[in-house]
Amino acid sequence: MQARVVIVGAGLAGLRTAERLRRGGYDGSLTLVGAEQHLPYDRPPLSKGLLSGADEPAPPLLRSAERIAELDLDLRLGVRATALDAGARSLTFSDGTTLTADHVVLATGLLARTVPAWAGLAGVHTLRTFGDCLAIRAAADGAIHATVVGAGVLGSEIAASLRGRGIAVDLVDPLPQPLCRVVGDEVGAVVAGLHRAHGVGLHLGRSVAELTAPEGRVRGVRLDDGTQWATDLVVAAVGGAPDTDWLAASGLALDDGVAVDAHGAASVPGIWAVGDIASVADPRGTGRLRIEHWTAAGDLAATVAGNILATLRGDAPKAHTELPYMWSDQYDTKLQCLGLPRPGDDVVLLTGSLDDGVFLAAHVADGRVRAVSGAGIPAGLMRCRAAVADAVPLAELVALAPWDRKKVTA
Ligand SMILES: Cc1cc2nc3c(=O)[nH]c(=O)nc-3n(C[C@H](O)[C@H](O)[C@H](O)COP(=O)(O)OP(=O)(O)OC[C@H]3O[C@@H](n4cnc5c(N)ncnc54)[C@H](O)[C@@H]3O)c2cc1C
Repeated sequence: MQARVVIVGAGLAGLRTAERLRRGGYDGSLTLVGAEQHLPYDRPPLSKGLLSGADEPAPPLLRSAERIAELDLDLRLGVRATALDAGARSLTFSDGTTLTADHVVLATGLLARTVPAWAGLAGVHTLRTFGDCLAIRAAADGAIHATVVGAGVLGSEIAASLRGRGIAVDLVDPLPQPLCRVVGDEVGAVVAGLHRAHGVGLHLGRSVAELTAPEGRVRGVRLDDGTQWATDLVVAAVGGAPDTDWLAASGLALDDGVAVDAHGAASVPGIWAVGDIASVADPRGTGRLRIEHWTAAGDLAATVAGNILATLRGDAPKAHTELPYMWSDQYDTKLQCLGLPRPGDDVVLLTGSLDDGVFLAAHVADGRVRAVSGAGIPAGLMRCRAAVADAVPLAELVALAPWDRKKVTA
């Protein structure tokens, strides 16, 4: 199959697209362009073992240099795509080169959001790249106290990992529970319990009013209720924004990321998007889904690679139907979730105990299972896959096992 494919973004989704193209028999020109100098590496360890100090400070490569070579790529690292003319499928790069391709795959991920008022303050960090992780590790060496702002998946993991280094940690979020946007309030309360049990100061329903920073270095935090403390470093884990500024004049439809259809195809033929940057038409609804989880990035990459191969063969593309899945490791607990819970879902305990932190819970809307979350029962969670994918009535899920059922929402 001869053609030219250019993948922009050498992270998880970009690499997985390249791997799937080669595995599917594509033997044409394949360029992978990445803004970072490192070979494609994995991000989850950055907030876990690499941050706690359990792992050696080296990029956690997704594939060794030898195995990258097997892909026969035109690999351009340390090069940033600066412009795309979508209609012409033509790219311009930071090293002054240009490329025109038959298919362009956009895989540029997210940029960490920052808090404008804290810009330029020493001791304030975000975490997205290996370099960010090294900077936080260095700041944590010798630190007595850290403040983490944002108790989503990333902020909660950062708090747990810094706590694991023996540093005192306070975690602040305006929402009522950690991770509540991802797993709802009831399961979020389990995460809150974990942090409290490990001595993290939790400030939920609170915002940072001010960082005190004499001479430009952060020294303290004051909350909107007046609570204050001294701190040595602050990590702002306040979300990520799709890295699409460089696409503003591309002619592509952008909608909280690159808008793609159920096949992963963007609004202009021959342009595709994968990973955190892809805002996918929701096959079950009328809106869009942009999922920032590891498994989803690889799954969509597989769909898009398959659809590029299908297009080259003259076959029809297939819709992306993979069920979203995420996990988060905090302390010794692995929290998992299949499907996408929403605020207002009923949370029904299937087995175990939320208080003990070992459980399976169904997230139910209109009597149907929207998601299943859990901790400590991974095999049980995976048994729920088909039930969540098919959004079966709760009774059908309950019938899968002799689980006791107890409603935990008010
Ligand atoms: C610290 C951390 C921990 C995580 N932990 C978990 C977890 O426990 N569980 C889970 O499910 N998910 C987790 N995730 C999410 C998961 O890692 C992401 O969903 C995944 O990395 C997305 O892959 P991606 O390829 O879309 O983006 P990325 O991995 O961000 O890769 C994008 C790449 O594109 C490059 N790039 C950007 N712009 C350009 C440009 N213009 N030109 C060229 N290259 C460019 C970037 O430098 C980057 O290397 C975590 C994420 C982070 C940051």
